[in-house]
Amino acid sequence: MTAPLTPSRVLVRHDPVGEPAPLVLDSPHSGIDYPADFRCIVPLSVLRMAEDTHIDDVFSAGPSQGATLIAALFPRSYIDVNREALDIDADLLEGPWPEPLKPGEKTRLGMGLIRRLAQPDIAVYDRKLSIAEVQARIDRYYMPYHAELKAALDRAYQRFGGVWHLNCHSMGSQGSAMTPDGTKRRPDFVLGDRDGTTCGAAFTETVYRWLKGRGHRVTINDPYKGVELVRRYSDPARRRHSLQIEINRALYMDEETRAPNRGYAALKAEMSALIAHLAGWTRAALHPYA
Ligand SMILES: [Zn+2]
Repeated sequence: MTAPLTPSRVLVRHDPVGEPAPLVLDSPHSGIDYPADFRCIVPLSVLRMAEDTHIDDVFSAGPSQGATLIAALFPRSYIDVNREALDIDADLLEGPWPEPLKPGEKTRLGMGLIRRLAQPDIAVYDRKLSIAEVQARIDRYYMPYHAELKAALDRAYQRFGGVWHLNCHSMGSQGSAMTPDGTKRRPDFVLGDRDGTTCGAAFTETVYRWLKGRGHRVTINDPYKGVELVRRYSDPARRRHSLQIEINRALYMDEETRAPNRGYAALKAEMSALIAHLAGWTRAALHPYA
């Protein structure tokens, strides 16, 4: 079944159809529903460069393979759920935040919880944001997304005694001054387990080998290690595994128009096959002698 949006326009959750697997997929950056109170100065065409456009659709076969799929409907440039809630740039705010902020490397690069930069040298706002405005984005979008993801992971964990979480993203085919790798060309896929801390090595290995076996160029933790969504809910010692996957956008879309390209159908079919493989693999990992 497809759950009603909770609350509306924040996210959509697709539950498993048929026999569930201990597998949860989430697509935090594919949302394209730009809230009316954004009040930014950047043209939509530039803002959209931050989207992982179509990734919710690329992984939409997940539920038919037994996985739960959660996708954000709001855009990442409005508030980024893949950041700590206190990873805020104090310079963006009208006044002092009520508790000590924890701005990290992403904030320094202009892409913390609330983005300062849309692209290098392109500011998102020509104004300071009020504390109430940022708090509302956290309360209405950030918290419900995290609550829904955590609940899905907890449900699978309670049912199966283990859960595997694939955190799904895409990346530009080339970096920029705002990304850790500068302007280098990117591989087809980057897997991130925060240097082996967010999932057992077998999960990363399985996805790595599957993709390599299809001739793809794949790197691990370089240049993307995974951020908040794989960090926060993972605990591999307790069989809670989270892995980030970044897909090179040139494989499936025109990076200027953001329309699907000629590779789209093949890439989507490949990701559907990967999810089918992982559904079987995660079930077997729970019952190795069955
Ligand atoms: Zn992303």
